[in-house]
Amino acid sequence: MSNVAIVTGGTRGIGAAISTALQDAGYTVAATYAGNVEKAEAFKAETGIHVYKWDVADAKACQDGVNQVVSDLGAVEVLVNNAGITRDGWFHKMDYEQWSAVVRTNLDSMFTMTRPVIDGMRERGHGRIINISSINGQKGQLGQTNYSAAKAGVIGFTKALAQENARKGVTVNCICPGYIDTDMVAAVPEKVLEGIIAGIPVGRLGKAEEIAAAVRYLASKDAGFMTGAVLTINGGQYYAN
Ligand code: NDP
Repeated sequence: MSNVAIVTGGTRGIGAAISTALQDAGYTVAATYAGNVEKAEAFKAETGIHVYKWDVADAKACQDGVNQVVSDLGAVEVLVNNAGITRDGWFHKMDYEQWSAVVRTNLDSMFTMTRPVIDGMRERGHGRIINISSINGQKGQLGQTNYSAAKAGVIGFTKALAQENARKGVTVNCICPGYIDTDMVAAVPEKVLEGIIAGIPVGRLGKAEEIAAAVRYLASKDAGFMTGAVLTINGGQYYAN
């Protein structure tokens, strides 16, 4: 097996923790990013992880990007669909661009990134696809109809794709993180964040490493009997699939 893993949005936040956890586990990691070159280059210098820039919402860019990774590093054994954005606002004030940007980046990316790797995984009889959804895709969150819809879509996608590929040695699972201490959560106004933390039974935000540890398990050979699963990692804030 090639031991190559692609982590989208793998240069900062949860994705960076996933990239380094997979590197520690022996994978050759390709971490992608959208445009923050400075951050990506710093991450590359610090970790030695290969970085690639393309937009996960652009189907052709994804196909070209995957081709480049395969040519540079080898066949893709693990895909972590982690890249995501928020464009919050109440629905009655939301414009189509806010809706569309979030759905394209968080949900269309499931197609644009997974389609280029699935044939090879099926042919080789082994693959791991790990999708990052969200607690807000499970419970819904006011101000995030776009994000909640896209992240709920990730859960449905995961369960359906898991069934299609179960006999081919390809597992497909998803993780629903609760509130994790990253730039995305730093953008939440302080007062709102205080209220959120008060509602988390463990009394703190999660750490990116706590999500990465679960990805590392799902990527491993040990996780071959787990597919179509939704892992809830949220400090006890919400319990449902
Ligand atoms: P960050 O905002 O910290 O990082 C996002 C990463 O995704 C960056 O590397 C960014 O690249 C990349 N990215 C964004 N848009 C695109 C795009 N169009 N094409 C390619 N890459 C893109 O996010 P988090 O680490 O907080 O979140 C990671 C995932 O976890 C997301 O899917 C998010 O929805 C989900 N999540 C996060 C939670 C949290 O509390 N933080 C909770 C639940 C789920 P660049 O650096 O170039 O901008």
